[in-house]
Amino acid sequence: MNMTGISKCNMSTCAYNKEGSCHTLGITVGPHAECNTYVHASSRGGFPEVTGGIGACLASNCKFNSKLECQATKVDVAIDDKHADCKTFQSKK
Ligand code: SF4
Repeated sequence: MNMTGISKCNMSTCAYNKEGSCHTLGITVGPHAECNTYVHASSRGGFPEVTGGIGACLASNCKFNSKLECQATKVDVAIDDKHADCKTFQSKK
């Protein structure tokens, strides 16, 4: 089983974001498909050579979610008001 990668994230105020990409090993996606790893900080986090992935996903009503793990090939994360959301989310119903 491979970790699902994050193809892009435009949450530029996040400490893990650089040039439209996430650079922490694994984010946690919350029950409403929000990125729970977002952190607003002046210092940068993560490693430039790392491309982010989905460590865990609590959005159990997403059709790509199985046993609280993401099974999508890749996901996009994007700004939604003051937080970031998984834009690959698709409701099971
Ligand atoms: S695609 Fe669905 S299962 Fe995967 S991270 Fe996004 S909300 Fe979670």
